[in-house]
Amino acid sequence: MSGTYLGMPAFPEAARKAVGDSTLRGNLRHATHTIRDKRARAVAELDDWAALREAGKQIKDHTLRHLDRYLVQVEEAVTAAGGTVHWAADADEANEIVARLVEEAGGGDSAEHEVVKVKSMATQEIALNEALEARGVHAYETDLAELIVQLGRDRPSHILVPAIHRNRGEIRDIFRSEMSEWGRPAPENLTDTPAELAEAARLHLREKFLRARVGISGANFVVAETGTLVVVESEGNGRMCLTLPETLISVVGIEKIVPRWQDLEVFLQTLPRSSTAERMNPYTSMWTGTTDEDGPRTFHLVLLDNGRTDTLADEVGRQALRCIRCSACLNVCPVYERAGGHAYGSVYPGPIGAILSPQLRGTGSDVDASLPYASSLCGACYEVCPVAIDIPEVLVHLRERVVQGGPAVRHGNRVVLRPAKGHAAERAAMRAAQWAFTHPGVLRTGQRLASRTRRLHPRTLPGPGRAWSGSRDLPPVPAEPFRDWWQRTHGGKDGSE
Ligand code: SF4
Repeated sequence: MSGTYLGMPAFPEAARKAVGDSTLRGNLRHATHTIRDKRARAVAELDDWAALREAGKQIKDHTLRHLDRYLVQVEEAVTAAGGTVHWAADADEANEIVARLVEEAGGGDSAEHEVVKVKSMATQEIALNEALEARGVHAYETDLAELIVQLGRDRPSHILVPAIHRNRGEIRDIFRSEMSEWGRPAPENLTDTPAELAEAARLHLREKFLRARVGISGANFVVAETGTLVVVESEGNGRMCLTLPETLISVVGIEKIVPRWQDLEVFLQTLPRSSTAERMNPYTSMWTGTTDEDGPRTFHLVLLDNGRTDTLADEVGRQALRCIRCSACLNVCPVYERAGGHAYGSVYPGPIGAILSPQLRGTGSDVDASLPYASSLCGACYEVCPVAIDIPEVLVHLRERVVQGGPAVRHGNRVVLRPAKGHAAERAAMRAAQWAFTHPGVLRTGQRLASRTRRLHPRTLPGPGRAWSGSRDLPPVPAEPFRDWWQRTHGGKDGSE
């Protein structure tokens, strides 16, 4: 996944730093509680929410089951409508395709060195901006929150609100110090009122929209039967990126397909209510190939795999591919609320990131092995998910894969999950427990011995177990094992019968 996250520490270490930042915690608490409360009210307005949720799940599962067929249908429909489809197996391939297309679209002046972008998780996932920069092409993010992140040389920390970790005062300071470097005088008198900040961003971006020859987007959905791409957004910057440039390049994960136009009926109700708590998106842009005298002259669709086929092969883990990136699960997660998005070491933070990142990327890093543990398993994420992804189920499944150990699973040059360091002792303890439970005589003797010597037991565990017992009370061993108590009080019958 994104090269900007290379070398990130494991989740516990990254989270420890974030939890100690009281400003960050305050920003996150205020923002997540505001959005989650609004979402709950927007969802409660619909009597058929449960049916919509089930329909979304069914549509996505059906599409994933027949993805091979629908991908070919998309290619045929987009090509018939005047677009060109490219297939990218991984991030490097996708970046190479996009960079080449941008260079081919250049017209020989400074505009060829710039592109405008509408917010896209897929392009963040492949670190497209960094890849283009290395080729001398600057990508301007045009979503307000993405612009704040880009100007602040920061990383996004939320799927929908990438600058959620910043408050208005911090944003004003970033605009004051950074906008002057971008061809504008510093707005000396800029205050932190939302209207003034939005106006400053609008003026800053306007000339970029008018000048750029290439626009780059992702897509929320791709309709297989017509080859139509759909982008939903709230600011109007997407509409500008999708219509003004001569060339439009859309990088889209292969899981974004829906079979029929009619399927949008479900998602255009569930997505806005789950994400921004709106009944409808202010801007829903749809385009099918190219149209004479209207919009971009050239359209390219880059279909991105980058670990999705491997994810699809996992019967439990594949449900993560249903995700429509609404971010509702982030806003209700007690772990995300305290640790923030950066601790997840990925463009996909929060509960969905904890199950998607370790499946998509194959680095075998410490952060990948630690992410399935970045959860209290409270289940709030599952309750709010509009496509009913059972995130706790996938987390437990991935923990199992981490603990089971053994050789890492290889797919070509990719390595999918490896056993986390320090789990050898846990595996040995589990093997010993398995042996004891399959030898009742040994288990009974051990229990009696433990009861008789219970006053001698230490209050904390030794060695690597010290960290565990340092913050927990060890459960006291009863004076009499359960089986002996049962035998004594139930007429001599063994408790195991
Ligand atoms: S997992 Fe569900 S709740 Fe979380 S972002 Fe994806 S669709 Fe939304």
